[in-house]
Amino acid sequence: MKNDSNSFGLSTRCIHAGTHLDSATGGACSPIYTSTAFAFPNPNNTNIYPRYFNTPNQQVVCRKLAALEQGEEALVFGSGMAAISTVLLAFLKPGDHAAFQSDLYGGTQQLVTRELTRLGVEVSFHRTPGEFAGAIRPNTRLLYVESPSNPLLRCVDLATLAKLGNDQGLLTVVDNTFATPINQTPLLLGFHVAVHSATKYLNGHSDVNAGVVVSSGDIIRRLTEAATNYGGMLDAHSCYQLERGLKTLALRMRQHNENAGRLAEFLQAHPAVAAVNYPGLPGHPDHSIAIRQMSGFGGMLSFELRDPSGGDEVLRRLRMVLPALSLGGVESLVCIPSKTSHRLMTLEERQQVGIGEGLIRVSVGIEDIADLLADFDQALAGR
Ligand SMILES: *Cc1c(COP(=O)(O)O)cnc(C)c1O
Repeated sequence: MKNDSNSFGLSTRCIHAGTHLDSATGGACSPIYTSTAFAFPNPNNTNIYPRYFNTPNQQVVCRKLAALEQGEEALVFGSGMAAISTVLLAFLKPGDHAAFQSDLYGGTQQLVTRELTRLGVEVSFHRTPGEFAGAIRPNTRLLYVESPSNPLLRCVDLATLAKLGNDQGLLTVVDNTFATPINQTPLLLGFHVAVHSATKYLNGHSDVNAGVVVSSGDIIRRLTEAATNYGGMLDAHSCYQLERGLKTLALRMRQHNENAGRLAEFLQAHPAVAAVNYPGLPGHPDHSIAIRQMSGFGGMLSFELRDPSGGDEVLRRLRMVLPALSLGGVESLVCIPSKTSHRLMTLEERQQVGIGEGLIRVSVGIEDIADLLADFDQALAGR
């Protein structure tokens, strides 16, 4: 778009923001610039190199994501974990304390407990803004949350946490992977940094591994410096695939929201199902928080079977929905967190956070809702 003005709506920004207009041919799509060797001295006096995070295809994705998350600038990485580790390593040093949400994504949990602690960073885990406030020490530097969380879709009050961070001079970081900027814009609620696994909804087609950070120009400058040394950049072809996926993000999210809402209501009414976790359901413990800070409730849900031992059989019986890890693609996927993402926890730890052995997580795709409901109906029949 010639002008990335925020006066455009989100669907328009998905399509047009950041596009590198092709001056050679007048083509409508950004050309893919594959070079890893660029002229030096360069006409603009910048040394272009993929690991310096400054190639045209990287910049296209960054401009689009900054426009969607409504931050000043963005950086694109080779994975969500590359984005997250760069943020944490760039802003924390030995002796600092960082406060994290207790139900973190498994990879982030491992990074925090294995790597940050090894480097002499103090870490602690909390659920509510009140608990975060009570955890602040003289050496606290950073607050880190995910909302909605995996796999129970718990939501944390982002505006209250952002205010706490700003009052106390702490860097506030939110993993916005589950919501996407279509459903939730944490930077507008006062957060300093939004991170994403772009592998999930942002790309949306289960065929690219990527990560993103969106923040202020100052913070992105510091992160670019660190990331150039850590080296976790994304190549031109993957940047292009991610750009292409992002063009339909708003359209896809509308259908994810709609399908997940319908499936949540269907499962809630099903006799084989004991409980459904979806922030859009009035009975969800964080429904009132979700209504305040989300414009759609997303495509992720989880549910408990009345018979907790029946999970494997339900997954076997599904005909269209695929038992698989990962999430956020156009196709519906299911998994059993106690056997996959949360298998490294002990039974007691899982019980403590409320992850039952029969809990089934669904990444609700954008298939016809009638086909989705029919597949779950036949898989649950007679249970
Ligand atoms: C998948 C995921 C990540 C990690 O992203 P990768 O692209 O796999 O490195 C981080 N946070 C959340 C919430 C995720 O779902």
